[in-house]
Amino acid sequence: MKVIIIGAGVAGQTVAETLRRKDKNIEIVMFTDEPHPYYSRIFLPHYIAKERSLEKLYTRKEKWYFENNIDFYSNIEISRIDLNDKLVYPKKSKPFSYDKLVLAVGSSARKLAFGNPDIKGNFALRTIADAQKIQQFVQDNKVKHAFIIGGGLLGIELGFHLKKIVSKVNICEIAPHLLPRQLDDETAKVLQTYLKSQGLELILGQSVSEILGEKQVKGVESQDGVKIEADMVLQQLGIIPNTELAKNSGLETQKGIIVNEFMQSSNSDVYAVGDCVQFGEKIWGIIPASMEQAKQAAAHILNENPEPYKPSVWNTRLKIAGIDLTCIGLSSPEAEEGATLYEYKRHDTYTCRKVLIRNNVLTNAILLGPGADSKYFMKKAGKQVDPKEIDEKVHE
Ligand SMILES: Cc1cc2nc3c(=O)[nH]c(=O)nc-3n(C[C@H](O)[C@H](O)[C@H](O)COP(=O)(O)OP(=O)(O)OC[C@H]3O[C@@H](n4cnc5c(N)ncnc54)[C@H](O)[C@@H]3O)c2cc1C
Repeated sequence: MKVIIIGAGVAGQTVAETLRRKDKNIEIVMFTDEPHPYYSRIFLPHYIAKERSLEKLYTRKEKWYFENNIDFYSNIEISRIDLNDKLVYPKKSKPFSYDKLVLAVGSSARKLAFGNPDIKGNFALRTIADAQKIQQFVQDNKVKHAFIIGGGLLGIELGFHLKKIVSKVNICEIAPHLLPRQLDDETAKVLQTYLKSQGLELILGQSVSEILGEKQVKGVESQDGVKIEADMVLQQLGIIPNTELAKNSGLETQKGIIVNEFMQSSNSDVYAVGDCVQFGEKIWGIIPASMEQAKQAAAHILNENPEPYKPSVWNTRLKIAGIDLTCIGLSSPEAEEGATLYEYKRHDTYTCRKVLIRNNVLTNAILLGPGADSKYFMKKAGKQVDPKEIDEKVHE
């Protein structure tokens, strides 16, 4: 069997690694339009701040593909899929045939259209190429003031690292507090106090209506007309799944590429995994979900009869701006009927833990600050738990 994987991010890479681990003979061909083997996007802000080299971004080197008998083509965009003849068309070369095709084409940064789309100094971070452009711009223009639009995980992380090379960084969030999808008001305030202690300047409950400057960014104007000077703008406003290739090839798409519980698209020989996917109404945009979907697709390709995919619990664990943060579930934990909230707070270390159990199932958790056993809580997410054990763990 010959499997073609389009995309070498975490989703495509996990499909390739899972297939190869379980089957030494399956023919695997991978394409990526980036000039790099698999790398983790998590460390792009560290790279911009020159805390991590390009080499150290790579999770796999080119030789890994050779050693694992995978045909790896970088810098090649697949521009068309012929579903009837089961062929993929690289932009400038002959087509490749497949038995099974995996679309792991990821997502793009959502960017707002403000005035001149080619204005210099207006960025969004998604790839190594973006990171290099941002780094170069800071250096060439001796940037002193960066303005980040979007107070989500990425905006905060990027702001924290930029602050090491730029003297002033604003993070602007339209919601009344940072991380509105993940945090309740109280935990967000603890995080905000911490971030201010790190020198970041937060603008909350405000949106940007205009980027100022004709050819090069001079600042931004807020919805209520306040002008703020800045040398560059970074828009970190979330993702848009890459659906164009799938859509143009006749596959069903909405917000993302529509898949079933085995990650098959509307054509049963074509799978989709990772940021490009829509399952039910949901798109994820995080690494754990990409990996779960990739393993599910690989298991189905190998005829392992996997259990139908259950939507991944939205969870993420990271060191955000130098402080540990784990979030499980998307809405902020609030005790309601039939639910119990376990809490622990310690202000001197910016610690705030909140874990919510509904009908003995752990549905939500926020663990901010040091010391929490986040691996334990991640493992318990969506499962039946012993409330006494949870209480002890929260207070550990
Ligand atoms: C700066 C940053 C930090 C992040 N930090 C975290 C974190 O801490 N935790 C977390 O859970 N998530 C984090 N994320 C999100 C995470 O990186 C994504 O969820 C993950 O990368 C999705 O993987 P993917 O393989 O689906 O897509 P991608 O990583 O986007 O990979 C898709 C690849 O396919 C290529 N491609 C697309 N179309 C074609 C084509 N037609 N032909 C050939 N190649 C194509 C793309 O260029 C890309 O290389 C972060 C994201 C960014 C940008």
